[in-house]
Amino acid sequence: MTGMTSSARPHLNRRLAEFGTTIFAEMSALAASTGAINLGQGFPDTDGPEQIREAAVRALRDGRGNQYPPGPGVPELRAAIAAHQLRRYGLSYDTDTEVLVTAGATEAIAAALLALLEPGDEVVALEPYYDSYAASIAMAGGRRVPVTLRPHAGAFRLDLDELRAAVTDRTRLLLINTPHNPTGTVLTREELAAVAELAVERDLLVVTDEVYEHLVFDDAEHTPLASFPGMRERTVTIGSAGKTYSFTGWKVGWVTAAPGLVAAVRSAKQFLTYVASGPFQYAVAEALALPDSYFADFRTDMLAKRDLLSAGLADAGFRVFRPAGTYFVTTDIRPLGEKDGVAFCRALPERAGVVAIPNAVFYDHREAGAPFVRFAFCKQTAVLEEAASRLKTLGAQSPQMS
Ligand SMILES: *Cc1c(COP(=O)(O)O)cnc(C)c1O
Repeated sequence: MTGMTSSARPHLNRRLAEFGTTIFAEMSALAASTGAINLGQGFPDTDGPEQIREAAVRALRDGRGNQYPPGPGVPELRAAIAAHQLRRYGLSYDTDTEVLVTAGATEAIAAALLALLEPGDEVVALEPYYDSYAASIAMAGGRRVPVTLRPHAGAFRLDLDELRAAVTDRTRLLLINTPHNPTGTVLTREELAAVAELAVERDLLVVTDEVYEHLVFDDAEHTPLASFPGMRERTVTIGSAGKTYSFTGWKVGWVTAAPGLVAAVRSAKQFLTYVASGPFQYAVAEALALPDSYFADFRTDMLAKRDLLSAGLADAGFRVFRPAGTYFVTTDIRPLGEKDGVAFCRALPERAGVVAIPNAVFYDHREAGAPFVRFAFCKQTAVLEEAASRLKTLGAQSPQMS
């Protein structure tokens, strides 16, 4: 989230000064210059289903979506989004008034915050944050109030008392993310029920980023916040095709919410991109209608990758927080004799030929995130095996060597 340098950007305004450059740019440049395996940014290194790619080609050839699509999104995709929410969660949304297609989840987040916040409004968000949250809150003139997820019994958990204490009279909305990037935490039904109760009691809006809804492992279960009592009318739910179908470059995301909220988000969205991804919208409509077996196979495949990389990291001496969802595994580097994740990640490409992301950059309370490092496992098996074997050399090195 936070910039490493802002002095190099003398023209950047005060709202964005702290977001000068992202860690991803720095780490990807390091990966390129050292030839290291890039487990930093979360994008798959293989494309999604052939049949969906072909659907995009067909749309393009048939001239569907090559010109500005309708502002709210093409009707086929809006209908498919509504059908998906109904089929999977029993949540019913009106295709015309309660669904909005966006340029990825990123635009949905920005548009929701720009539409819903007054200057100075407080946004309570789970820390560590997905990297666009802090910048989007800042662009909207809001103030972020972090609630830190803390390690407890092998996972990063939400302290419900801390969450309650973070809400003030100036709080406008809760910004929730489950399954959670970067920690891999999936909020339990009980935790979500408590979040919902708090939102109702304090009359808060909720923006919930559920882009990893299909990536939950073992006995974890994804429950949309909108399905809890009193939540449907106050919740903006954000989804995306990027992670679920392994087409992160297509940038097709969406919002489902009550008509007033969708209308508000649409007002902001129309002056950001207005519309995007025309032909891809038709392809994603087909993707959303894939049979349950697609989602089950995808999950099984990602679970094997999670286990492979987690085992490799544990072997290499990291403490591993086995994620219940997402593309990412967070580790603690202290067993390796290290304590500063930023320095560790800067040195890792040279030391071991692997790129990772220091979780500290996703925190306001940097010290709370200092020893944690995130690795992406949405990569081919051979790539993960090679990364694991490279990382094994770490244990043999003395910690201060680099
Ligand atoms: C990747 C990601 C996004 C962005 O999704 P796009 O559809 O690519 O814009 C949003 N939130 C989280 C938590 C993510 O990991």
